[in-house]
Amino acid sequence: MSCLFCKIVDGSIPSTAVYQDDQCYAFADIHPQAPVHVLIAPREHIVSLADTNPDDCALLGHLLWAAAEIARAKGLPKGYRVVVNTGPDGGQTVDHLHVHLLGGRPLTWPPG
Ligand code: AMP
Ligand code: ZN
Repeated sequence: MSCLFCKIVDGSIPSTAVYQDDQCYAFADIHPQAPVHVLIAPREHIVSLADTNPDDCALLGHLLWAAAEIARAKGLPKGYRVVVNTGPDGGQTVDHLHVHLLGGRPLTWPPG
């Protein structure tokens, strides 16, 4: 398996774990864009949000719940942002579905 995030999920590439359960693994982004920047990836290899189907609905909900749970644990009373970059125009650079959790500073809108 050549997928970077599959290797992070299975531990063959080191990462800083933030949260994990039977469905997902969350870890610190190596190039943080905010004081809190966590990636939540499903243990299952799914290329992107564009590759999901109705069978993935529970998993997708779980990834969002995990983001909220991590945000609660980090303590982000002023809010945070959850992002799923999808495909080349969406800025996705790693082809294994992941949710970004960003917080700890005001984030501007619209994005670039
Ligand atoms: P995206 O551009 O949405 O596909 O996000 C990929 C993210 O993975 C980027 O924010 C990268 O900084 C991050 N990243 C790449 N390699 C690693 C790594 N080895 N450990 C942690 N984060 C990584
Ligand atoms: Zn993968």
